[in-house]
Amino acid sequence: MAGKHVPERTCVACRRLKPKRELLRVVRRPDGTVAVDPTGKAPGRGAYIGASRECLRLALERKALERSLKTVISETDRAGLEAELYKRRASCPFRDEDEGSREG
Ligand SMILES: [Zn+2]
Repeated sequence: MAGKHVPERTCVACRRLKPKRELLRVVRRPDGTVAVDPTGKAPGRGAYIGASRECLRLALERKALERSLKTVISETDRAGLEAELYKRRASCPFRDEDEGSREG
């Protein structure tokens, strides 16, 4: 059996390479709005971000998302992103791997 290939992407906030499933895809839709893309297949320019509070904060503070998507994120879209990322983070088994202590 050949080893499984795990697709990896770079988080635009912390620039770390992570398995794709630990990241969320944020997409700039053709109409210019920016939103989380749960399918990972939505048309438009995409960027990946870690499903953690820290990554979202960094991405917005450093405008990493805006740079990567080559757009300006409106207050409305920003609020929507935060809500969506926090919601998904709550159900994500990989949440906050960088916070707190690490186990074996
Ligand atoms: Zn990150």
